[in-house]
Amino acid sequence: MKLAIDTQLIHAGEDQRIEGAIRMPIFQTAMFEHDDDPLRYVRYNNTPNQTILNHKLTVLEEAEDALVTGSGMAAITASILSAVKPGDHLLAQNSLYGGTHKFIRSLLADLNVSVSFFDADAPDTWNSLLRTNTSSVYVESITNPLVRVCDLENIVEFAQANNLTSFIDNTFASPYNYKAAAAGFDFSLHSATKYLNGHSDVVAGAIIGKKEWVQKAGKNLAQLGGSLDPYACFLLHRGLQTLALRMRQHNATAQMLSEFLESHNKVNKIHYPGLRSHPQHERAAQWFEGFSGMLSFELHGGLPAANKLIHHLHLPVFAPSLGGVESLITRPVISSHSGLSPEDLKAAEISDHLIRISVGIEDANDLIKDFKQALHQV
Ligand SMILES: *Cc1c(COP(=O)(O)O)cnc(C)c1O
Repeated sequence: MKLAIDTQLIHAGEDQRIEGAIRMPIFQTAMFEHDDDPLRYVRYNNTPNQTILNHKLTVLEEAEDALVTGSGMAAITASILSAVKPGDHLLAQNSLYGGTHKFIRSLLADLNVSVSFFDADAPDTWNSLLRTNTSSVYVESITNPLVRVCDLENIVEFAQANNLTSFIDNTFASPYNYKAAAAGFDFSLHSATKYLNGHSDVVAGAIIGKKEWVQKAGKNLAQLGGSLDPYACFLLHRGLQTLALRMRQHNATAQMLSEFLESHNKVNKIHYPGLRSHPQHERAAQWFEGFSGMLSFELHGGLPAANKLIHHLHLPVFAPSLGGVESLITRPVISSHSGLSPEDLKAAEISDHLIRISVGIEDANDLIKDFKQALHQV
C-alpha cells in the first residue's frame, strides 16, 4: 500500500518496539558489543538512532538510500567528494549557499577541481560549458535569497544525457514540497538544521538519493567524521515527524504574508514563488507541492526603511538561518551573503536593503497585523 507522506513520517521505520517503548529510546552509547553484524559505531552511521532516520529519509523522497549527517555542510562536502575528483570540472549554479560556494572555491580548488558558475535557467547555454573533464552538476531547488526556481527538470535530463552526477541542495523546498530524488537527481542534500528538524535546536544534515552514490558518500562521511550523535538524532526524529503539518502551515502563512506585502504601497519588490508575479511561478506550481516559507522583499525607502521596519516588528526574530517554527527576519548582506564583495552582490542582484523572512508557523493574521503596524511606522 502506498502511503501518504503524513503517514510515512509517523510510521516509516518504526516497526521495532524496543521493550515495548512507543518512542525509539536514545542509545547514548558510542559503540556496541561485537555480534554477527558489522562493527556498530556512531561514526559509521549504523547505530539504532541513526538507522531509523536513514530509513525515514529514504522513504520521504522515494529514494533508494539516505544517511543522516552531522550538519548540512557534512552532507554537502562528503557527497561532492564522492563524485568530484582531482582534475575534474564542476558546473555549479551561480547563486549557491555561501558555505557551499566557499567549499568549491577553497578546498575543492586546492584539489585542482575547476568550476564554472552557470545560469541554471538558461538551458541553451549549458552544452557550451561542457568540458571533457566535466563530471558533475550542482543546483539548489529554491535559491537564497531571491527564491528562484531553476529549470530542474532539464538539469536532470542534461546530467543524464552527458553522464554527469547531479546534485541538488533541497533544503529550502524540503521533501514535503519537492521530492528531488524521485525527480531523478543522484543526490538530494539537506541542511536538516532547517525544515527537516524545524525547531532551531539541532544542527544536522541529510544525504538522500541513489544507493550507489549515497554509499560512496557514506564512506567519505565515516572518514571525515561528519556523523550525527544519538541525542541529536532523537531530536531530529522527533522534529521530523511533524514535517508535513509544519510545511503546510509554512506554505499557507508565507502565501498570505507575501500577498499582503505585495499589495502594500511601501513595498517596492517582493520575491515569493507562490505569487503570480514571480518569474518561475508556473514551473514551481507544476513541480512543487507548495512554495515553502521563504520570501524576500525591498521597501521604497531603502536601507533606513528596512532598518526601521525590522526595529518595529514584534513577532519575527532578527536572526539568520531559517526553517524553524518561529519567524526569523534578516538582511542577507549582513548574514548569508556577508562574505560577498559589492560587485558580487550587484551581480547577484542582492541590495543592502533586501529583507529576507523565514516565515514560521504563527497565525498568519497575527503576522500580517504585526507587519502592518511596523510598516505604518516606516
Ligand atoms: C544552512 C544551509 C546549509 C548548511 O547547513 P548546516 O546545517 O548549517 O551545515 C546548506 N545549504 C542551505 C541551502 C542552507 O540553508
